[in-house]
Amino acid sequence: MQEKREIKYGKGSRRCRRCGTHQAIIRRGGLYVCRRCIREIYAKIGFKKTGGRGG
Ligand SMILES: [Zn+2]
Repeated sequence: MQEKREIKYGKGSRRCRRCGTHQAIIRRGGLYVCRRCIREIYAKIGFKKTGGRGG
């Protein structure tokens, strides 16, 4: 039995810069992170949305 594992990720593919997964990579603002990490990032930096709040 021989198992051949070919990885076709090489260059050209994108991976999450946070966890390193290749699934659901989102390139928003050049972040290149998966949808899971992007949520954490947004939560951290604080999603800049329209909101008039003096502070
Ligand atoms: Zn990730």
